[in-house]
Amino acid sequence: MSAKIIDGRSVATKVRNQVKLATESYYSATGRRPGLATVLVGHDPASHVYINNKRKQCVAAGMVDLHHPLPAEVAQEDLEALLRKLAADDSVSGVLLQLPVPEHLDASALLDCIPAHKDVDGLTTESAGLLARGLRSLRPCTPAGVIELLRVSEIEVSGRHAVIVGRSQLVGKPLSQLLLQSDATVTVAHSRTQNLPSITRDADIIIAAAGVPHLIGATHVKPGATVIDVGIHRTRDGLRGDVDFDAVVDIAGALTPVPGGVGPMTIAMLLSNTLQAATFNTQGMAASVR
Ligand code: NAP
Repeated sequence: MSAKIIDGRSVATKVRNQVKLATESYYSATGRRPGLATVLVGHDPASHVYINNKRKQCVAAGMVDLHHPLPAEVAQEDLEALLRKLAADDSVSGVLLQLPVPEHLDASALLDCIPAHKDVDGLTTESAGLLARGLRSLRPCTPAGVIELLRVSEIEVSGRHAVIVGRSQLVGKPLSQLLLQSDATVTVAHSRTQNLPSITRDADIIIAAAGVPHLIGATHVKPGATVIDVGIHRTRDGLRGDVDFDAVVDIAGALTPVPGGVGPMTIAMLLSNTLQAATFNTQGMAASVR
């Protein structure tokens, strides 16, 4: 039987619509609109596309777009000063530094200028620590999008074995924390993992986030398992993922496509985080509801 295809575009549209409605309620209650400050350094074409999409969707959700384009040669201390200024600015609910930054800059030190209550990408050391401790924080957008897809698709997570392929700060590690919080039994595989198929074949849920095109094939998947493909690769045949969709579709119970699976969720969760950050800024992070 063919897998149920999890439609990330439709789930993302619902999230965006919910955020838009909640943003109007926030505006009615406070007279203020959430403001998203985006910081883009240099002229990387892919980063331009990503940031433009984020800005466009931020405006569509009724939020204020506060964009800061900077030259590629900007100095570390000048960029840190800007991030600290945005951190202190009441009209800014969330701050997003588009990665990657040019090589002369220290990305970790830059991210750590963003306080946790404005860290809408959920990538700073403080946010990672709060997440690891299970405390209130803004969650990294792609992992949060994966959790939302599982929730909306009514995939049981509690008590299930989830195998994440990839241990990056951006996806694999935070996702392992979120799945643990959802009571999954979590295994994290990486480039040194031996005999990957024997591990993923034991999984009820496989999350492929290795950045290797078509890494996950028929031999990796237990019949009926849920397979979530985080990978994005531009090929001559269009966008492809870390999962060989055609090889897996008749084995998995549920499967995300690429494109149209996890990808659209990332910006939707960014908008959700920005609204949440505005609430944090109004009420204080500790007083806010998770
Ligand atoms: P990354 O930083 O390069 O991390 C890749 C991870 O996969 C590493 O932990 C690496 O192991 C592991 N890995 C590499 N080759 C492997 C193999 N053959 N077997 C098992 N594990 C392997 O990548 P990332 O930033 O997490 O992104 C992963 C993928 O997701 C990329 O395709 C990226 O484009 C995509 N992505 C999509 C979205 C979205 O919005 N949908 C967002 C972010 C990323 P080591 O730690 O041992 O090196």
